[in-house]
Amino acid sequence: MIIIMEPHITQESEEYKKLLEYLERFPHLQVKPMEHIGVTRRVLEIHLIGEDYMVSQEEIESLPGVEKAIRVTAKYRLIGRHGALESFGFEYQGLTFSQDSFHIFAGLCAVDSYENAEEIFKALKENGLCCARMGAYKPRTSPYDFQGLGKDCLPWLFDLAGKYGIKILVMEVLAPQHIEEIKQVLELTGYPCGVILQIGTRNAQNFELLKAVGKQQEFPVLYKRGYGLSLEESLNAAEYIASEGNTKIIFCLRGVRTHLGDPHRNLVDFSHVPVVKRLTRLPVCVDPSHPIGSRVKAPDNIREIYHVTAQGVIAGANAILIEFHPKPEKALCDGPQALLLEELPVFVEYIYKVRNTYLELKELVNKYQIRR
Ligand code: PEP
Ligand code: MN
Repeated sequence: MIIIMEPHITQESEEYKKLLEYLERFPHLQVKPMEHIGVTRRVLEIHLIGEDYMVSQEEIESLPGVEKAIRVTAKYRLIGRHGALESFGFEYQGLTFSQDSFHIFAGLCAVDSYENAEEIFKALKENGLCCARMGAYKPRTSPYDFQGLGKDCLPWLFDLAGKYGIKILVMEVLAPQHIEEIKQVLELTGYPCGVILQIGTRNAQNFELLKAVGKQQEFPVLYKRGYGLSLEESLNAAEYIASEGNTKIIFCLRGVRTHLGDPHRNLVDFSHVPVVKRLTRLPVCVDPSHPIGSRVKAPDNIREIYHVTAQGVIAGANAILIEFHPKPEKALCDGPQALLLEELPVFVEYIYKVRNTYLELKELVNKYQIRR
């Protein structure tokens, strides 16, 4: 069960202490308070962990200071909505991330040179974007492939981002020590930008790494669904992050591996955008670059990457993570799927048109107030 306290209640309030006293009659239950600073309100929740069927929901809800009590219906108790909870968002670097917000994280798969990073940042700025994706640590299938520039590129990369007004870089981490390295370099350079830590699909069930990004509160986390995992397994894995105390999580769909994925690298799973928004309280991102795997165009002259990005956005995605490169033919990682920098303006216009259509469609459907 999750007990939601009224907005004015804190862990110092008499009502909260009275509730704890009441709960002492269930000594087998673990009582875990969780404070969440959302975008619109602060929420104090009390989680009852263990067999709680003997706890009366009605009685709990009649106690002073209690807003409501909810029976937990899934194992991912912190990130789950359980059919009744509101979604929550978070603020980072002056930007809001929630199930209503929308952001574009465009940039290099792998940072390969100062010049290429600068070209990207410059283009993002010219197109009104203030977030980027930039991989410094790369998980590669072969140990002989380019592994990323690692921590050596961080000082100039962060400085460059700051120079072009880029507020956030999404950057994959492969090991807990990478979090420390990012933190140290941000301190050293005076925080010219922020970082969202990305957990890649290959690490989707690396529980020690998930716990490490969950233990720290400074950086939000973009968690990518495991490409060989069921949605349920990935949601439980994302819960590891929250269970350690960090609920600033964005859940990213990036396609799944199946022999039915034939024409693409992976099968696009963006129909799960509304599902993840319904099942969890997290903002949902889509990554169209990795499942498609190439710049191939459909007969309508629109790249398939555009088509599937639109599918994710029209389904209500809150962010897109997409690869661009100034010279894709020379890229050291994922060149075939990188969009050309000169198409950034049309891509941004295309995506915002789709986003605006989604918002109009949402209004249209809500106007009819179909209640069942
Ligand atoms: C990436 O974003 O560059 C990446 C390696 O993605 P994924 O983990 O989804 O394969
Ligand atoms: Mn990539």
